[in-house]
Amino acid sequence: MGLVYAQHFRTSNPTENSTPASRNSSVSSKSSRSTFSSLYSPKSSISSGSGSLPPQTSQNYPPTRILRCRKCHNHICLSSLIISDNFNGSLGPAYFVSKVLNVKLAKAREFKRMKTGRYEVKVIDCKQCDCSIGWKYLYSEEDKEKYKEGRFVVERALLEEVEM
Ligand SMILES: [Zn+2]
Repeated sequence: MGLVYAQHFRTSNPTENSTPASRNSSVSSKSSRSTFSSLYSPKSSISSGSGSLPPQTSQNYPPTRILRCRKCHNHICLSSLIISDNFNGSLGPAYFVSKVLNVKLAKAREFKRMKTGRYEVKVIDCKQCDCSIGWKYLYSEEDKEKYKEGRFVVERALLEEVEM
């Protein structure tokens, strides 16, 4: 009887008889992949009360952020409206965006000379606290800069970004 038990123990451990090298490598690659995927879990967004926009469910895109006025927290733009984050404003790095919210457009046009040429612009102010947040391009003298017309530059120094 004692012999039967011993044989049973031996065969119940399959790794002992198989080739150790190939088995180990396949097991380790499998386990590292599964732990990696479990590392990423999307942050559950806290509802801010204004639930007018549908929640972003795709994990391939970063979540949309709100760009708001640093002074008064008025919502100025959304990260999904950013065309380029490589623009220069009067105060340093700026966003080039297709649309802005809750701003006042100045009545007077101004001419602005920049590295890329001369533009006609209108200053945009935060509707709530009147701080100048950037400008709107009305007209470009250079043909290759025409794509900027009707679009906006907002100063990153005057904005802060929050998750929706
Ligand atoms: Zn403001």
